[in-house]
Amino acid sequence: MIALYPGSFDPITYGHLDIIERASAMFDQLVVAILNNPQKQPTFSAAQRQQQIEIAIAHLANTRVTHFPGLTVDCARQHKAQVIIRGLRVLSDFEHELQMAHTNKTLAAEIETIFLATSNEYSFLSSSAVREIARLGGPIAHLAPAHVIADLKAIWA
Ligand code: ADP
Repeated sequence: MIALYPGSFDPITYGHLDIIERASAMFDQLVVAILNNPQKQPTFSAAQRQQQIEIAIAHLANTRVTHFPGLTVDCARQHKAQVIIRGLRVLSDFEHELQMAHTNKTLAAEIETIFLATSNEYSFLSSSAVREIARLGGPIAHLAPAHVIADLKAIWA
């Protein structure tokens, strides 16, 4: 079975990578899809985010990355994915994620959304927190891969 893990990944964090590693162990193939979130103005271009993710997932043979300008369900169909993976951190994620899952179900009844609970140590972690800590010069080595930190430092240097 093929699964799609869509998101902004601006940039990829160890929280995302934890979900990716766990999902890649559960499915035959995993496609990480960089999609446009109209509520977010990205810091990194789609090409930069794709490269950041490619480096981070190089150890996972059944996982690849793409970016897609349209609907999540159209991206899933293009990659023949029957499942959409989303991560849940805190309660406030739940309402929005459930609404999206229901909306996607109305658009594509054949595609299921599966939620993976965050691992405890990453429950507080978000791309925006990583960007903010990096901007203010704080330590982020425990939050994101080294090549991502280098890209962040290049922005705020
Ligand atoms: P989006 O703009 O689509 O929410 P994000 O990159 O912020 O994109 O998140 C993509 C997915 O990864 C979402 O399902 C989000 O809940 C999940 N996610 C983000 N950070 C974590 C984390 N620390 N632990 C588990 N899931 C996470």
